[in-house]
Amino acid sequence: MKIQVNFMTKITSKFTGRKILVAEDYPVNQEVTQYMLELMDFSVDLAENGIEALKKFDKNSYDAILMDIQMPVMDGFETALEIRKREAGHSHIPIIALTANALTGDKEKCLAAGMDDYISKPIEAIQLETILKKYISN
Ligand SMILES: [Mg+2]
Repeated sequence: MKIQVNFMTKITSKFTGRKILVAEDYPVNQEVTQYMLELMDFSVDLAENGIEALKKFDKNSYDAILMDIQMPVMDGFETALEIRKREAGHSHIPIIALTANALTGDKEKCLAAGMDDYISKPIEAIQLETILKKYISN
């Protein structure tokens, strides 16, 4: 897929050596998000549902997780709760929810599930960069 790059040109951050997991079921969103993250020099892993995300979380060490809320098999809320259980207070990986729309109560629901923050789709590169800088030192 060809992606217009002009709206990405303001990205200046380089997260070289940082690894991020993107849990997202929709292929176009996967591709666009991965593209933006690679412009920031992240190493990117993809998971298409919560179960797959948990498997990758168990096997790898990530600097952050971008978590789609609506996914088949296991949704983002359930997945985030499970990750917090597995961490058991020993560590805290930043989890940023990807929400389809900023519905009232969405933010509270994300935070209640143990997520740190959220951004609304469609994701803008600058917005993504800003939120990642808040949670990951580059
Ligand atoms: Mg989805």
